[in-house]
Amino acid sequence: MLKISQSAYASLRLHGEETYPHECCGVLLGHFDGDSSESVSKSVSKTVSRVARCGNTRADSPHNRYHIDPRDLIRIQREGRERGEDIVGFYHSHPDHPAQWSPTDLAEAHWFGCSYVITSVEKGKATITNSFELTGTDEDDKKFVDEKTELV
Ligand SMILES: [Zn+2]
Repeated sequence: MLKISQSAYASLRLHGEETYPHECCGVLLGHFDGDSSESVSKSVSKTVSRVARCGNTRADSPHNRYHIDPRDLIRIQREGRERGEDIVGFYHSHPDHPAQWSPTDLAEAHWFGCSYVITSVEKGKATITNSFELTGTDEDDKKFVDEKTELV
């Protein structure tokens, strides 16, 4: 379960409209809910309080690839810590494509337990937003699992 504030949800969808026909990308900041001593196999819910926009560094193919600059990521992580926020996921847009993950999206996802949010942007208008949680234990058995989202 991914709980997301109205403002964060609106912001990530608007970002996709602004960068259309290119993909947008960014980071979801908030916290993991519940007791961390519970079994790791049990999926925990997350709450997103804020999003951090990133530049898309994939200049070669910005319409169907995204990549967050590692320096951006380090800065966002540091600023989040100062505010008591964790990185709980990532988001990007799919211009004129469904809000479903691609094999490339899975290959480039490395943060287990985090949410990967995809918004379909049809002709410049944000439509469906879906979330997928990266599960598994390593690069060989990782997979995306559909995740419910709830606006809070
Ligand atoms: Zn994608």
